Amino acid sequence: MATIFTRIAKGEIPSYKCAENDEFYAFLDINPLVRGHVLVIPRNVEDDYIFNLDEDTYSRLWAFARKVALAVKAAVPCKRVGVCVLGMEVPHTHIHLVPLQKEGDLNFRNPRVELTPEEFRDIADSILKEYEKL
Ligand code: 5GP
Repeated sequence: MATIFTRIAKGEIPSYKCAENDEFYAFLDINPLVRGHVLVIPRNVEDDYIFNLDEDTYSRLWAFARKVALAVKAAVPCKRVGVCVLGMEVPHTHIHLVPLQKEGDLNFRNPRVELTPEEFRDIADSILKEYEKL
């Protein structure tokens, strides 16, 4: 059975798109640590452990994530974009990109930020616009 992230990448489940290409997809985390918290996934690799990816796919995934992080940094006020790989909840490889003001912003025990659908849309559109400039 397809993972929820495969279904998101296919458009079967709605998401707030931040960037995409044929192989990878980036979208807003629905339960964000901060505004602009993005998830980056391979579309067609459902392995739940990033270090199981073959070396080429792994390298292309990080190259895509780098571009998305540059777009996030341009779109969302922050000191830098932090990176985290957990995969404790969703069994489909993904990279968290989290805009940081301080070290403690990248703590998954923090309370999550509540955003309206319009706020999600605005943030995702801003990131997508910056991504398309790169
Ligand atoms: P992890 O697997 O890395 O521990 O956490 C999975 C992340 O995916 C969580 O931050 C969670 O909020 C996010 N997430 C889980 N289900 C969905 C979903 O259906 N849509 C979106 N946009 N994010 C999700």
